[in-house]
Amino acid sequence: MADPDVKYPVNVTYCGACTMPLEYCEYSNCKDMCREWLEQNLPDLAATVTIDDVSDEKKHQKRGGKGTGKPKKTVTMASKVTLQISARSKNKNVTLVKGLSTFGIDPKVAGKLFSSRFACGCSVTGADEITIQGDFKDDLFDLIPQKWTQITDDDIEDLGGEPNKR
Ligand SMILES: [Zn+2]
Repeated sequence: MADPDVKYPVNVTYCGACTMPLEYCEYSNCKDMCREWLEQNLPDLAATVTIDDVSDEKKHQKRGGKGTGKPKKTVTMASKVTLQISARSKNKNVTLVKGLSTFGIDPKVAGKLFSSRFACGCSVTGADEITIQGDFKDDLFDLIPQKWTQITDDDIEDLGGEPNKR
């Protein structure tokens, strides 16, 4: 028997999508799912409960105007990484890696990775040029697409260069 002095919440309906009472749906992170759940399960209530989502989007659009929203990912046309072996002296080769920044990769970050991966000297020698002490062209062909998935084998060009005999 219910205690007559206690007022139980009347007809609190919990949303099947966000599990909160329906009146909180508009604060949930899944308003789209809430609305969908409501329309499917409680079509009568759906008409009376406002889940303020669509109008929110409209507000944003008005405020920002068309096309001034999130920055689009910029695709650079001439993105290409080049690898080149350069013989600096007898028995000493360096690998020049150019073009990483055209894929949004910081040469300094890449240089650190190369030097720790290959345990070798590695320095940023230009705006977009990394010089690795040693012949690591083959390793780079494997490592670069593996590390940065935006770069494929086809994006890496072997500029050649005859390595000294190791
Ligand atoms: Zn909900």
